[in-house]
Amino acid sequence: MLDDIRDAVRKLCADFPGSYWQAKDRDRAYPTEFVDALTSAGWLSVLIPEEFGGSGLGLVAATAILEEIHRSGCNGGACHAQMYVMGTLLKHGSAEQKALYLPQVASGALRLQAFGVTEPTAGTDTTRITTFARRDGDHYVINGQKIWISRAEHSDLMVLLCRTTPREHCARPSDGMSVLLIDMREAVGNGLTIRPIRTMLNHATTELFFDDLRVPVSSLIGDEGKGFRYILSGMNAERILIAAECIGDGHFFIDRAAAYAKDRKVFGRAIGENQAVQFPIARAHVAVTAAALMVARAAERFDAGEDGGSDANMAKMLASEASWQAADMCIQTHGGFGFAEEYDIERKFRETRLYQVAPISTNLILSHVATHELGLPKSF
Ligand SMILES: Cc1cc2nc3c(=O)[nH]c(=O)nc-3n(C[C@H](O)[C@H](O)[C@H](O)COP(=O)(O)OP(=O)(O)OC[C@H]3O[C@@H](n4cnc5c(N)ncnc54)[C@H](O)[C@@H]3O)c2cc1C
Repeated sequence: MLDDIRDAVRKLCADFPGSYWQAKDRDRAYPTEFVDALTSAGWLSVLIPEEFGGSGLGLVAATAILEEIHRSGCNGGACHAQMYVMGTLLKHGSAEQKALYLPQVASGALRLQAFGVTEPTAGTDTTRITTFARRDGDHYVINGQKIWISRAEHSDLMVLLCRTTPREHCARPSDGMSVLLIDMREAVGNGLTIRPIRTMLNHATTELFFDDLRVPVSSLIGDEGKGFRYILSGMNAERILIAAECIGDGHFFIDRAAAYAKDRKVFGRAIGENQAVQFPIARAHVAVTAAALMVARAAERFDAGEDGGSDANMAKMLASEASWQAADMCIQTHGGFGFAEEYDIERKFRETRLYQVAPISTNLILSHVATHELGLPKSF
């Protein structure tokens, strides 16, 4: 079945060649046509159970889809969140919320692909977020600021993490945060302002400003004050899926480099006849293949319902480093042509660099492994 999925995704991606992505990249435009094609084919709803209109295939299938998208030279960053952001709603939402939203997310009628966690002053230390939702009768009134919230302009709903109790009034720093499902269609212009941030890659990321945004209390997912725990399980899915994108990127770079090294003649012979050119390609292949095994293990453990936080983190770290190694190798193999837009390598090089920083940076993964796996003292 996985082979069939991979074949079908590859066929879909063939309709979106490099020239399509180059134009989007140049204009920093959203790849609406690509996202629509994936949505209609049902590829973004594979994690939604069948009872809510998805195909309920699980994370192993979802990783195969994103890997093929990236191996084909496309970019799942525009829509991968439609796959996993709904996980918080699925696991912790009420029966009414799930019945109301999930079938529409599955069909694509509603886009749920904004995940609002990061804040400018808190950084990775999420317990320091200060965006606050104050209860006022049947509403919450939200004030604060978020940064790097991707796809907010292209989403109907957003899963938002905010404080409902100040940190200093909580027994533990991770208490007192809550998850709200924000209807962006009503919020924008009524207390929510979105400001796009132009970055080195085309990622539709933004800054959000909340100024007395009123949302009904029915927007609360699960219990008030437990939001931090709710988003953690979703973050594991996110890390594994992004790791799969890195594996796809890695293969893209290796495929391109191997083909070019066979074809390009310098000093009267193919550059790939030189071991100094061959070995970096082979080394990148070894690293991507090894990382792919870790991604597969993390996805299988996630689907089996095991607590795979460390596996998800390790998979993301290995895959993002392997794809970056492959990206660097691919530029070098192509010489000057690696820098030409029409080869797509410089674009992919920029795109894959992100994943050593977001959704979690490598140092924080190492810190998790050191303390959770090895019992070393906490440094923060
Ligand atoms: C293009 C893009 C899209 C994004 N999309 C989203 C999104 O949709 N939703 C969302 O909520 N967020 C999003 N993010 C935010 C992303 O998750 C964060 O940028 C990332 O987690 C790093 O946080 P930071 O930028 O605040 O870095 P900081 O926390 O300021 O860290 C800066 C550097 O210091 C290091 N560092 C910090 N503390 C320690 C320590 N104790 N020990 C060792 N090293 C440390 C970090 O590893 C990092 O390298 C996005 C970011 C980008 C760039």
